[in-house]
Amino acid sequence: MLEESIQELESRSLARIASAATAEELEAVRVDALGRKGALTQFSKDMGKLAPEDRKRAGMLLNGAKQRLEAALEGKKSEFDAAALAARLDTEWVDLTLPAPGPRRGHLHPITRIQRELEQLFVSLGFAVLDGPEVETEYHNFDALNIPPDHPARDMQDTFWLEGGNLLRTHTSPVQVRGMERLGPPLRMIAPGRVFRNESVDASHEHTFYQLEGMMIDRDVSVAHLLYFMKTLLTAIFKREVTVRLRPGYFPFVEPGFELDIQCLICGGPGCAVCKQSGWVELLPCGLVNPNVLRMSGIDPEKWGGFAFGLGLTRLVMMRYGIDDIRQLQGGDIRFLEQF
Ligand SMILES: [Zn+2]
Repeated sequence: MLEESIQELESRSLARIASAATAEELEAVRVDALGRKGALTQFSKDMGKLAPEDRKRAGMLLNGAKQRLEAALEGKKSEFDAAALAARLDTEWVDLTLPAPGPRRGHLHPITRIQRELEQLFVSLGFAVLDGPEVETEYHNFDALNIPPDHPARDMQDTFWLEGGNLLRTHTSPVQVRGMERLGPPLRMIAPGRVFRNESVDASHEHTFYQLEGMMIDRDVSVAHLLYFMKTLLTAIFKREVTVRLRPGYFPFVEPGFELDIQCLICGGPGCAVCKQSGWVELLPCGLVNPNVLRMSGIDPEKWGGFAFGLGLTRLVMMRYGIDDIRQLQGGDIRFLEQF
């Protein structure tokens, strides 16, 4: 009787294992047959009631059935695992041969672009491009440029003074001084860079902006040379005729000094916020280098002369692209910068 029951349970369980569709169904078969309260466990208890010789045969049969069921369960479980893995591989499949989308490509800031253009222009005219520190000494920023101690430019309102007497350079002119000291005459150089003013910020004033200074020192340099280079420069920048005017201007480091204005490219003359309703924009202070400046940098003004000019790169970018608010350029608004 018991032997028949064991055989019957084994074949029934094997059939259930074979037809199991999920891991849960498989587990149910295992619990029913091999579990602590399962049929086979019950049978092994029942064996105690059998005669010794029957018990031996039933025991062998029971063990055999147990081993075959365990093997069948294990086999089916591997099938399920393999199928689950295959399904996962199928859904999580990634084609590694596809080209990566890569980072979004940016572009140069309009100020950087105009700076590089001008550098190329001046290099083609035989000028060197020099760089200098943004934290300057009072000597290089003021004294060596013939700016006396009581000059308003030295005022707290205009300059960021640092502890220890140094300052954030208020113009790129100190690079001219360093250039003269280091290289001596004859000298053709430009110095593009970032400068700082302690100013309240509005549509046409920023505390941080960009300039490009230039200087040429040689024998017999006159205002005619200055005008030639300035005209070449402006034609290259605006790629069209611009109306300019030259006014006498006082700058301690040049003598004579001029203020070169261009007619406002945004409004064309009638007046707007950028040109402060005047129709003209101060673009370029320039002049012949003051003999005191030459002397202080160890150059003999009897033998050498030169011209110098300063250009607002920031203002130039505004003119070229018709930007009417200087704050946009350093505002960090990607939507603004993406237009260029
Ligand atoms: Zn205007």
